[in-house]
Amino acid sequence: ATPTALMVGSGIGAENGILIRRGEAIQTLKEIKVIVFDKTGTITKGKPEVTDLIPANNFDKEEVLKIAASVEKGSEHPLATAITRRARENNIPLDDISEFEVVTGKGVKASIGDKRILIGNPRLLDDYGIKTDGLLDIINRLEDEAKTVILVAVKNEVAGIIAVSDTLKEDSVKAIGELKEMGLQTAIITGDNQKTALAIAKKVGITHVLAEVLPDGKLEEIKKLQEKFGNVAMVGDGINDAPALTQADVGIAIGTGTDIAIESSDITLVRGDLSGVVTAIKLSRATFSKIK
Ligand code: ADP
Ligand code: MG
Repeated sequence: ATPTALMVGSGIGAENGILIRRGEAIQTLKEIKVIVFDKTGTITKGKPEVTDLIPANNFDKEEVLKIAASVEKGSEHPLATAITRRARENNIPLDDISEFEVVTGKGVKASIGDKRILIGNPRLLDDYGIKTDGLLDIINRLEDEAKTVILVAVKNEVAGIIAVSDTLKEDSVKAIGELKEMGLQTAIITGDNQKTALAIAKKVGITHVLAEVLPDGKLEEIKKLQEKFGNVAMVGDGINDAPALTQADVGIAIGTGTDIAIESSDITLVRGDLSGVVTAIKLSRATFSKIK
């Protein structure tokens, strides 16, 4: 590309809230075959809310929320924020906790007094040998509704289920539809479970779903797609998206996301909505067809 074309391109980009951090990216963008989207905070707003609170084994609703919020106040995960917000709205006083620990891709762990508390997905409880088989019907039903299921375990038993739901960004359906019309393949990648990911993917018209991917796994999945399809773009907002954004031929960060995602990206969408991806690709195609 000529420097002039790049300058013109980045000027138009800036007007549209598209910040080009690496000039070549806008040129590579026209060669992209596949675009991979992170789910939470990228396709969805990333501001989940508690929708269901289902106690188990002699616990009551308020106890479950109190235990969960007490532990989650140590976490900055959007799921944690949803739980602590609900507890605050219900004026529930929180307990002191000790030995707080994040279990990456699975949840959090802490102690309240001498009781070990686990909060997270079924995989987390599995790791500690806590059976969740009896809850499978409820879990499946909630996940089919595109909700994320969080289990609360006290000592070695399940105290309850908290379901959390995130809404799509207003333009996600439209933007992904346009990208498909422009001939691009789309995929969704998430640490969340398969059923919830499928339910969200269906709402936005994505058929390729990569779910239950641990943070390190996102980069590997991008590599595999590159081997199979060639140039791949990744769109994400989180700390756990940063390695994948770097690995992708074009990494696109959501401007409202974490600093580390933005620093790892080639292009940043200042406004945070997905129409920026469509505009960036159109801009790339237009800029580089003119200078042939
Ligand atoms: P993503 O941001 O793609 O959803 P994460 O790796 O952050 O992926 O989380 C993956 C899964 O781990 C979540 O869907 C949830 O089931 C569980 N999890 C992570 N952090 C927490 C937390 N603070 N509380 C409860 N569950 C959590
Ligand atoms: Mg995210």
